[in-house]
Amino acid sequence: MKKKFLCYTMILVIMVLSLNCSNKQTNEQTIENLKESVIRENMASAIYKAYIIQAQKEYLFQVAKLFNALSVAENIHLNIFLKLLKSHNQEISTTKPDIKIDSTKFNLQNSIKREILEIDSIYPKYIKEATESKLNDEIKSFNYAWQAEKTHKNFLVTIYDLFVTKVPQNVKNPKTSLPSEEHLAQLDAFFIPREYYICPVDGKLFDNINVPSICDLCQTPKEKFIYIK
Ligand SMILES: [Zn+2]
Repeated sequence: MKKKFLCYTMILVIMVLSLNCSNKQTNEQTIENLKESVIRENMASAIYKAYIIQAQKEYLFQVAKLFNALSVAENIHLNIFLKLLKSHNQEISTTKPDIKIDSTKFNLQNSIKREILEIDSIYPKYIKEATESKLNDEIKSFNYAWQAEKTHKNFLVTIYDLFVTKVPQNVKNPKTSLPSEEHLAQLDAFFIPREYYICPVDGKLFDNINVPSICDLCQTPKEKFIYIK
């Protein structure tokens, strides 16, 4: 009888220990995910910043404005994840990333690809792993970033489609190799000037045409949105 009791106790101890261990593993995985998010969002914010300058060089001021809004939005995500890491007594140093800048057309394509990767693979995986660990703050923050990246991708796709289908390419003054005045006028005509609003809590992006009175994701009122003119 005593032997049987001892056996049951041992099984119970092993079960509790393995449960603790698996929880610890998933917690560690989420902390790794937070660190990766800090690196990636820091990189994304810096990349968009660099793309602003390239777009301005190509006289694509409306595209530059979108990159500016995106850079600010990714910086919001960066700060969210840094704060969460700190709450786990963890930190990670971010360095200035090495950025490859190409033409704005390529930069737009590259941006769309990166946003799609985050939307389809990265954030769903992080949300699943945080859910398994029941880490509510992390679930919420990864979801905020996930939903925000969807709005970023939509604006990028809209601008890219306009860019490749409407904007005449290589219309340049042969003497200066700069876009001709005619070209600049055409660029202005094809891009609807937009002003952007960013939710400061989750980084969701809105334009002046569709800005809501409160953020549908976190209920922050419009008055608190960051305005990008
Ligand atoms: Zn929001």
